Amino acid sequence: MKYYSTNKNTPNVTLKEAVVKGLAADNGLFMPERINKFEPSFFENIHNLSFQEIAYEVALKFFGDDIEPSTLKTIVYDTLQFDCPLVKVTDNIYALELFHGPTLAFKDVGARFMARLLSHFMTNREKQINVLVATSGDTGSAVANGFLGVEGIHVYVLYPKGKVSKIQESQFTTLEQNITALEVEGTFDDCQHLVKSAFLDKELNEKLVLTSANSINVARFLPQAFYYFIAFAQLQKQEALKDKSLVFSVPSGNLGNITAGLFAHKMGLPVHQFIAANNANRFVYDYLKDGVDTPRPSIETIANAMDVGAPSNFARILDLYNHSHAEISQILKSYTYSDDQIRETIKKVYDMYGYLCDPHGACGFKSLEESLDEKQVGVFLETAHPAKFTETVEEVIGKGNVALPDKLSEFMQGEKKSIQLNNQFTTFKSYLLSNSK
Ligand SMILES: *Cc1c(COP(=O)(O)O)cnc(C)c1O
Repeated sequence: MKYYSTNKNTPNVTLKEAVVKGLAADNGLFMPERINKFEPSFFENIHNLSFQEIAYEVALKFFGDDIEPSTLKTIVYDTLQFDCPLVKVTDNIYALELFHGPTLAFKDVGARFMARLLSHFMTNREKQINVLVATSGDTGSAVANGFLGVEGIHVYVLYPKGKVSKIQESQFTTLEQNITALEVEGTFDDCQHLVKSAFLDKELNEKLVLTSANSINVARFLPQAFYYFIAFAQLQKQEALKDKSLVFSVPSGNLGNITAGLFAHKMGLPVHQFIAANNANRFVYDYLKDGVDTPRPSIETIANAMDVGAPSNFARILDLYNHSHAEISQILKSYTYSDDQIRETIKKVYDMYGYLCDPHGACGFKSLEESLDEKQVGVFLETAHPAKFTETVEEVIGKGNVALPDKLSEFMQGEKKSIQLNNQFTTFKSYLLSNSK
């Protein structure tokens, strides 16, 4: 299957090119030229399949033309070495826990899949592949850990100095080997801008093989569709959907995760509505209200992985629905919450239902609580383990109430190593030219 650019100003490319290039030559985002649908019977039997079997079926719809089935199966099964349980929180609200991977956040799924796919594509390659990734917190750790030790690949993680939590930082600054952390004086949007500029820079691209591992990469964002099907299967198994329709609420920043959900819907997954649950960065909310997409500077919040003022993947959503505000408004809703509302929600859910949300998941929960009617069942994506935000969460529910999982304390014991950079592209470029192969 070929991939086209959302800007439609450059020839279509193969899956391999789309994965290696990350961003299209015309600065657009790659999209698969077809979305293969499932037969309705697939959904009648889905609850009899295992988690990995479901993901493999979904992967075949995306990548079946381009990758040998046995190779694809290995990549999928290897990626999903952990569970995505659906946990009942209230009568009609469930948490889809996506934090059981190595870095305790949903980005493990896409990052692990991409690392394996890229390494499959690069057998026999002589030149090193340089993965550039801008992170507002969790992407960096998921990508760095997904690629750690993979031969022929070097990962550069760009992150805004002082704007990610200590725990997040430790997960990509302590690894060494083929991972370099670049600490940028600036915001996440600055980091993202540096990465985008590098991909468009002629000299850099002549001398180095560069690729992206941000959620803009198709190998990262498409596999995120897996767990929407998996959530549906678990609801079917529990017979929770009898005469009820399904609403997914997705704590959203760069919109990669929710876009994958919209793909799942286009593939036939019976979903009534998607909610982009946002912190104070209310790009989607404003778009739905006014029909105008206005990029804004990002606002710092306690749900910092969603501090994105100009979400890249919005171009994909526009493309999926032919730029129709009416169509988009039908499938998508959005809620925006202040830090105080997020704190209140963490506390309320903990006190009333005994469930501990992280600040991102709390936005998802609250949007369902506000919007569901009695004919609907809601699933919010619990995108990270609350212990990744211990300081914030313990401020709300009391000190000592969040246990640090072993996986995280091991990272915290490592020594931080990072390179300091300003937010100027010329600095970043000369760093890459003198340090990369
Ligand atoms: C990255 C991230 C998000 C936002 O996901 P997008 O795909 O960028 O919309 C939400 N929550 C957490 C914990 C994250 O790490």
